[in-house]
Amino acid sequence: AKELGRNRYQFYAPEMNMRALDRLTLESDLHRAIERNELFLMYQPQLDLKTENVVGLEALVRWRHPSRGLISPGQFIPIAEDCGLIIPIGNWILESACTRRAYWASQGLTTGSMAVNISAHQFRQADFCDRINDVLLRTGLRPDLLELEVTEGVIMQGIDQVLNKLNLLRELGVTLAIDDFGTGYSSLNYLKQFPLHCLKIDQSFTRGLPNDQGNEAIAKAIIQMGHSLGLKVLAEGIETKEEENHLKALGCDAGQGYLYAKPLSTGDCEEYLRVTHRD
Ligand code: C2E
Ligand code: CA
Ligand code: CA
Ligand code: CA
Repeated sequence: AKELGRNRYQFYAPEMNMRALDRLTLESDLHRAIERNELFLMYQPQLDLKTENVVGLEALVRWRHPSRGLISPGQFIPIAEDCGLIIPIGNWILESACTRRAYWASQGLTTGSMAVNISAHQFRQADFCDRINDVLLRTGLRPDLLELEVTEGVIMQGIDQVLNKLNLLRELGVTLAIDDFGTGYSSLNYLKQFPLHCLKIDQSFTRGLPNDQGNEAIAKAIIQMGHSLGLKVLAEGIETKEEENHLKALGCDAGQGYLYAKPLSTGDCEEYLRVTHRD
């Protein structure tokens, strides 16, 4: 059954040559995806590089399309963003991730936050902070167990409003991470004013460490800068021992990647948390 499960992971090629018609069909299918229960979450562990303790889980959405099989978020999230469906889909993701995390906490699995990806359109909603407050109240999740991942592009536009929102979120007690750090444009001057918790080094910079000299310099600079701003730094997409060892040597705090675990199903993740749980 496991083998079968694995073979069903047939994602579309990420660089799409999808025809407009195809995209329209997908878009109309996506309208019904939530009510038909076709969306689900997988969870990828994040580890402290020194202790190897689990410090978080990242929720990653998947779409099980009735006829096309599994569709990756890289394929349908951009469509959802374009047509506004990202709002109901994003709300569903938040609700599901928080409900799951709260349930696991009720089972005694209390360490490690749940990181949820927030798209630009979602973050820019005027009532975004209210949504977060609502979902925390509804699910009873401890606020510090929710981490929101936003990209540089999202927080470097409309700084005054963004700063307001980030401060409100901080007051609610949730933590904030900058996703794909280094691939966008950040003003260091703003970065130091924002109430952030973590920088996530994009996996393109993790690749090939320490032999790739460009990446070596970038990873080192991000870690130093993150630390001097008082932030935790997590490296994404760690696949090899060499990459891990070098990131450790550079003082990187946490890591995520296939070396530790691929995104796990709900059942597998619960099992993983139980096995790795320490008081
Ligand atoms: P991301 O937030 O940068 O997520 C990390 C991606 O890297 C995930 O792909 C994960 O499966 C993959 N990954 C993790 N470790 C490794 C590794 O060691 N090697 C390699 N090659 N890849 C690794 P995924 O799940 O396909 O997600 C792709 C993107 O789609 C995400 O990038 C994120 O931008 C978006 N996404 C995923 N889930 C959500 C969601 O719930 N909401 C929103 N708005 N976007 C999402
Ligand atoms: Ca992410
Ligand atoms: Ca990322
Ligand atoms: Ca990415």
